[in-house]
Amino acid sequence: MATIAADKQYGLYINGKWEQTEEMMEVINKYNQEVTAHISSAKKEHVDAAVQGAKEALKSPFPPYARYEVLMKAAQLLVDRCEEFAQVLALEVGKPIRESRGEIERAAQTLVISAEEAKRIHGEGVPVEAAQGSENRMAFTIRVPVGVIAAITPFNVPVNLVCHKIGPALAAGNSVVLKPAEVTPICALMLADLFEEAGLPKGRLQVLTGDGAKIGEWLLENKDVNMFTFTGSPLVGEYIRSKAGLRKVALELGNNSATIVHNDANLEQAASLISQKSFNNAGQVCISVQRVYVQEEAFESFIDLLKKKTEKLVIGDPSDESTDIGPMIRLREAERVESWVNEAVEEGAVIALGGKRNGALYEPTILTNVNDDMKVCREEVFGPVVSVATYKEIDEVIAKVNDSDYGLQAGLFTNDLQFAMKAAREIEVGGLIVNDASAYRVDHMPYGGVKNSGNGKEGPKYAIEEMTEERIIVLNL
Ligand code: NAD
Repeated sequence: MATIAADKQYGLYINGKWEQTEEMMEVINKYNQEVTAHISSAKKEHVDAAVQGAKEALKSPFPPYARYEVLMKAAQLLVDRCEEFAQVLALEVGKPIRESRGEIERAAQTLVISAEEAKRIHGEGVPVEAAQGSENRMAFTIRVPVGVIAAITPFNVPVNLVCHKIGPALAAGNSVVLKPAEVTPICALMLADLFEEAGLPKGRLQVLTGDGAKIGEWLLENKDVNMFTFTGSPLVGEYIRSKAGLRKVALELGNNSATIVHNDANLEQAASLISQKSFNNAGQVCISVQRVYVQEEAFESFIDLLKKKTEKLVIGDPSDESTDIGPMIRLREAERVESWVNEAVEEGAVIALGGKRNGALYEPTILTNVNDDMKVCREEVFGPVVSVATYKEIDEVIAKVNDSDYGLQAGLFTNDLQFAMKAAREIEVGGLIVNDASAYRVDHMPYGGVKNSGNGKEGPKYAIEEMTEERIIVLNL
């Protein structure tokens, strides 16, 4: 790793070798906008070589105990190199350094959980003898790897979300061709280096950097790819599904996450958690709180508390220990968020806090007097903006939360058990978090959305189900 970090020219990782291309792409330091490194840009021949190598690698045995050992070793190396990885995250994502360290610690956990799951992949007995004429038969299922999995990942959590793909895929005995986001590729290449050191057999992990749309197209055209696992925007997810044909596709997409604050909630706790979880990573988190619905009588007190907590957040250089909010991933994304907020204000919204942009830094912003048809409520903002509206009745607020194209996770602050259970049944999401904001995730839980938020579940145990096929074995005795 030291050699590739020093010259800041990163190659593709194909069949265990680093390959530099003539054409290179720039990687930008997201805080000062300076070019910090160059990455290789894969062509079709590289994509095909990577897929071919991944397919070949499947022919060499890689039993579950060996997968366990490699994944555990990789997790340990990640812990050992936490600071090195965190510094790269601060630079290429613009993620504040304390939050970056948190991501690396979680990524190491994701690998440990994947390692543990590698030992637990099993089928079940099937009582075929219950069917007349099958009295002398026995049957059971086994789970076999899908084969070559193309993993395409987003910029916002580029170590842990990559580990959520390669951890379970390798644990289940597959090979992976990884295509990280073009704006945050370095930590994915560092992971490849780390897996090599952990003893991963050559070819089991390939990493292709460069133009996302082109590489995506070449991967989709290559029929030796057996499955696509994608985390990113609904637009690209839908495109992948439309081109993947009959192959397996798992999609983790966007959301405009809602969180409800009921009258009986602990408002101090609700404001504290909503303030943290609306603005983490400058709001560039798929379950980031975007819409808050507060019951009318609690509105004034809640807004005061939310403003007080949010005012304390420090905006600035992600490498500074005191920073809570760094820059957005691109200047044009901060400009887009600014224009959406301005549009909401023209339509009657009030800025209760924030609303200013300085380059790619956008202040944590609280909007009130919003309606559900404003872009800041209806679409995914993916920036540090939270809109707070009111409601009177429980049925009304459930309908408001469900009036969305998305359904990843929602939060509900209440001590009313009846309301919590009604919400559990009626809110259309992959996960409901009671007495916390929508943005709660630990890495072994099932995680994934409904509606335009995607399909398929993450969390190593659940991802392994997607990344294996169930095969039945019938014995005629
Ligand atoms: P994006 O869709 O722009 O890019 C994601 C990946 O797709 C990148 O690697 C990109 O290079 C690649 N890509 C782009 N065009 C492609 C094409 N035509 N074919 C194949 N691949 C292509 O998303 P982003 O901006 O990196 O990430 C933000 C989005 O990701 C948000 O919508 C967010 O909600 C979502 N997200 C979802 C989850 C989740 O778990 N549900 C987690 C994180 C982010």
